[in-house]
Formats: sequence, structure tokens, C-alpha cells
Amino acid sequence: MSGGGYDREQALKRMTQLMMQGAVMLGETCPLDGLPLFRLKSGEVVCPVHGRVLIVSSDEEAREAEIEGIIREVRYRAARNVLESLEEGDPKRIREWLEVLESTERILSMRRSYAAPAGRGEPAERGRDKSGKGS
Ligand SMILES: [Zn+2]
Repeated sequence: MSGGGYDREQALKRMTQLMMQGAVMLGETCPLDGLPLFRLKSGEVVCPVHGRVLIVSSDEEAREAEIEGIIREVRYRAARNVLESLEEGDPKRIREWLEVLESTERILSMRRSYAAPAGRGEPAERGRDKSGKGS
């Protein structure tokens, strides 16, 4: 494809921005330019170039995206609760929240393995959480 009404570099910059804002890259692509779409925390689906797009090819996919967003939210809150319980010195609560956290991780990795879109859609999760917590 040649031309297209967009600047690749700009698009990349915008995609990076979106991810830094916590947007989730979807397996869906923009019908106009083939770029991956992003789901914002607000639930809106946007193209890095065209902004808001009303796509989502099926209800099912929309729901899948929503489920994933919810699991991520639970994971995030569980992590925060672990920290809070740590400050309160409540080992039982810490363990409980860690279990929740673990479950969400498991669900997300399961979903990733079977929801891998054929071809170009590479899950971009890895770069996203460099919270410096590990190893
Ligand atoms: Zn687009």
C-alpha cells in the first residue's frame, strides 16, 4: 500500500502514547489504514490515526475486549490491595489478594494463548508493565 493519508511516524508516536496511557491494543485493525486499534480506559475504541472508530466487527469481540479490560482492572486493584495489606501488616489479606492477582494473571495468559490473532497483531502487553517489580 502506498500513500495512505497518514504519517507512519506520527502513527507510531501516537500508538506509544496510547499504550502509555494504559490503552489496550486490540487484535482488530482500522478498516481504513490497517493499524491496530486501541481500547481506552474509558472503553472507547480508537485508531491512532483516525481517532475514534466505531468498529468492533462483532458483539462477541467487543465483549471479549471488555472482559479483558475488566480482568486487567481486577488485577490492578488486587495489586494495589496487596500493597495496602502489606502496609497494614495483614498477612492473611496479603495472601488473599495475591491469590486474586495470580488468578487474573492466569486468565490473561490463557486468553493470550488462544486469542492470538493470526498474523500481524502482536500482543503488546510486555512493554506495558515495566513497573520494576520483578527479578
Ligand atoms: Zn485508522
